[in-house]
Amino acid sequence: MQNQTLIQYFHWYYNEKDNLWTKAKNEAANLAQMGFTGVWFPPAYKAANGKSSIGYDSYDLFDLGEFDQKNSVPTRYGSKSEYLAAIDALQKQQIMVLADTIFNHKAGADEVEKVPVRKVNKEDRNEFISDEFEIEAWTKFTFPGRKGKYSDFIWDHTCFSGVDWAEDLKESAIYAIQNQFGEGWEEVPSEELGNYDYLMFDDLDFRNLAIRAELKKWGKWYYETTNVDGFRLDAVKHISPGFIIEWIDDMKKNCDRDFFIISENWNIESVEELEHYIEITGGRTQLFDSLLHHNLYLASIGGRDYDLKTILDNTLAHRNPMLAITFVDNHDSQPLQALESFIDFWFRPLAYAMVLLRIQGIPCVFYPDIYGASYEDDGQTIELQPVQELPQMLITRQNLAYGEQIDYLDHHNCIGWTRAGDEEHPNSGLAILMSNGDEGFKEMEIDKKFAGQIFIDVLGKRTEEVTIDENGCGEFFCDAGSVSVWVLKIQ
Ligand code: CA
Repeated sequence: MQNQTLIQYFHWYYNEKDNLWTKAKNEAANLAQMGFTGVWFPPAYKAANGKSSIGYDSYDLFDLGEFDQKNSVPTRYGSKSEYLAAIDALQKQQIMVLADTIFNHKAGADEVEKVPVRKVNKEDRNEFISDEFEIEAWTKFTFPGRKGKYSDFIWDHTCFSGVDWAEDLKESAIYAIQNQFGEGWEEVPSEELGNYDYLMFDDLDFRNLAIRAELKKWGKWYYETTNVDGFRLDAVKHISPGFIIEWIDDMKKNCDRDFFIISENWNIESVEELEHYIEITGGRTQLFDSLLHHNLYLASIGGRDYDLKTILDNTLAHRNPMLAITFVDNHDSQPLQALESFIDFWFRPLAYAMVLLRIQGIPCVFYPDIYGASYEDDGQTIELQPVQELPQMLITRQNLAYGEQIDYLDHHNCIGWTRAGDEEHPNSGLAILMSNGDEGFKEMEIDKKFAGQIFIDVLGKRTEEVTIDENGCGEFFCDAGSVSVWVLKIQ
């Protein structure tokens, strides 16, 4: 079995000459060669701001760049046919494709309706701060450009639990919609702000069984239309977990296959919340390890003051590695974005060694770390350089990062680990050493089978040759503020 490696194939400011679907199609063979086994694509359906949307303000889940809606046929990333061609090209290279799936909210409604609401306290969503009254809200979705093709479902205010804009009052607030399904919010995993059901736009009310049926119908249609291999579920902490369970089970049954499913449950404080989510959803979904990302971030800004012994503490990779999707950064944490917590450049090779070369978790590489990115926002110009060491680390992961792992997370400034290798992968076995302080060295055991053989730093930062002793041990080195990856020297 080859190690699985995903790539998040976009970032917030993708602005290259080819649209994203075309770029991905052209890169399919290259991605396979680099060692990627899966691609996470951004939302492929029409969003409220048409071509200028990143896609998370989703409007019509059935419009994959096919209909003239929101002033454009294609989405920001291309047309439906280009999307399907990209998926096909990737799958021909044995790369699975994951679709970004937004169930929490819809945006860009076609019509206003008179909607009974009660205002709630923004800081405590369980506290009503008004009696019931009527507002005009954008809650009716008729999709005039699609004209009922694929689905004739019309969304109205009974499909939503809340909105944040009263058109007639020109007022922004959080309005809980009063309908037959309840006056307050749905029960969701997150208790931030009292109840965090409401995130943004028109927030779906899963107590309305008609929308559950519609989204299950959509899932089957999406699979049959695109042949995707899995889904990345957006913002699940704001969604009834009962619905997520039902949707995943229904998809497997209706499509008669398994899907690779990752959920985004952003949390940088409590790994227990992620564990709780795994518990209540019965382990049906992988989760992004936002806590490991946060530790990597703290390490990168902490420099030599950060205690590397603690870098895995309270991470999902440590607590539940089977379900952890590890990553260094994503489209929310990149510079100038909402959850900006970009891992400092000097630490990115160390961070990628942590996610790519350890046994725990399935890594997801961030697009700019392969391709670079250059963009402007808020009057600032950002240049993200590719991580130089990344291609070599990906190949090392693909070929050599196998077998038992021994950890040496035993020094404030210098940690390492080894992989013993296995029989299936010739010459596999590794030793990794990193330092956030001075030049480092450490005696580490790889495996007795390497006795008398020589290991070298495949990243080329250290030029020593390390001979493994009869106990399978060697003394390995790394530069100050650096990482070295030691592999068997092929004579
Ligand atoms: Ca919600």
